[in-house]
Amino acid sequence: MQELNRRLCQKLFDRFPGEWDRIGHMAILAYDQAHMANMCIAYSHAINGVSQLHGDILKRSTFADYYKIMPEKFLAITNGITPRRWLMLANPTLSDLLDETIGQGWRKDTMELEKLLPFADDAAFIEKFAKVKHENKARFSRWINRHQGLVLDPDTMYDVQVKRLHEYKRQLLNALHILVLYNRICDDPNYTMAPRTFIFGAKAAPGYRRAKEIIHFINVVAAKIAQHPRASKMIKVVFLQNYNVSTAEMLMPASEVSEQLSTASKEASGTGNMKFMMNGAVTIGTLDGANVEIAELVGEDNCYIFGMRSKEVEAIYASGTYRSLDIYETNAELRRALNMLFDGSLTPDNPKMFEGLYRALVFSDNGGMADPYLVLKDFGSYQQAQSRLGNDYLNQKAWTRKEIINVAKSGIFSSDRTIKEYNDQIWHLTPLTKQH
Ligand SMILES: *Cc1c(COP(=O)(O)O)cnc(C)c1O
Repeated sequence: MQELNRRLCQKLFDRFPGEWDRIGHMAILAYDQAHMANMCIAYSHAINGVSQLHGDILKRSTFADYYKIMPEKFLAITNGITPRRWLMLANPTLSDLLDETIGQGWRKDTMELEKLLPFADDAAFIEKFAKVKHENKARFSRWINRHQGLVLDPDTMYDVQVKRLHEYKRQLLNALHILVLYNRICDDPNYTMAPRTFIFGAKAAPGYRRAKEIIHFINVVAAKIAQHPRASKMIKVVFLQNYNVSTAEMLMPASEVSEQLSTASKEASGTGNMKFMMNGAVTIGTLDGANVEIAELVGEDNCYIFGMRSKEVEAIYASGTYRSLDIYETNAELRRALNMLFDGSLTPDNPKMFEGLYRALVFSDNGGMADPYLVLKDFGSYQQAQSRLGNDYLNQKAWTRKEIINVAKSGIFSSDRTIKEYNDQIWHLTPLTKQH
């Protein structure tokens, strides 16, 4: 590593004479640390941003100095998912319906899924598509009943957030919004909403205490709502045990809402977002990673975009002027939900159970800024997007149309396209053709 660093710094001295600060940031060994990312950038043949947005961020921000001296290395090839696993294997009933409707060509070339578009306005097809989704919801419900003893109602909306547990992915935004809905139901005996099943699934890294605390919090919210006679008829929260690829294969076909809530600029691409889309779930999400491309493809009528844009997030971090406390003080519903983290209404035996979570969102304790992932900042915008989504879901035909358009436009996210772009732009191999 020292030899790699010596040769690199030699070049950097020539290219940026006297600019010691810049050279220090680009070096492999500097300030008593090894910069593995710098080593990768300096010595790789090609560097890929895994979505269009991530490619731009690498060039504009993360590795801007490297982009100046080796622009030809930087690529942006969007991730993909294999349609063999995530559509054909996971969702055989939808696959059969696709065969019957547009032929089998989509199995070799997923761009042919676009042939579905005219059927988005075909009443008979809408009915068949909705029936497949309902069957998949019932299948998932039987499965989770066998594995976790939970009872789910397939006639409720299945609103799903499954991904590793991390603060930047903002499972808390979802959970706090659920608490706000719960409080509304408690306060107003006439409050109604389309009944929803909120499904969470996530693993926390072993040493990530805050992530485990968030899992605990979601489970406590689930139990609290289950105790309330009226709220439990409109909201059910479930936490999947041991979320993994096998459970994802069962869940994706049953999902109607795909929660993609990362703080803009933090999620390089996401692939869960693509699995949901290919199975017809409608995205509610920030303009982050491949969500940007999903939103462009389906249009604003067929997804729910909210929150800060990535450049606005970068500007907030750069300015250092964000004060989540101001939002806490002005948004009464959000403040009430946050207060439940320490006032004993969730955990009477240990009222301050989640005080640490609360404090991290509202106070800048030791030097760092409060709410670094902008949960409070984006809450109002998320709530509005959720409210639009909830209203739109009431029109089941129009909702199913959105789901169909999502499937029709998902073909670009096949990993076959990704691999082809890697070959065209990096490997330059001659594809083998299958001999018969
Ligand atoms: C696809 C997948 C992920 C990645 O999900 P993101 O929402 O893109 O973070 C994580 N875990 C499992 C089990 C998956 O199948």
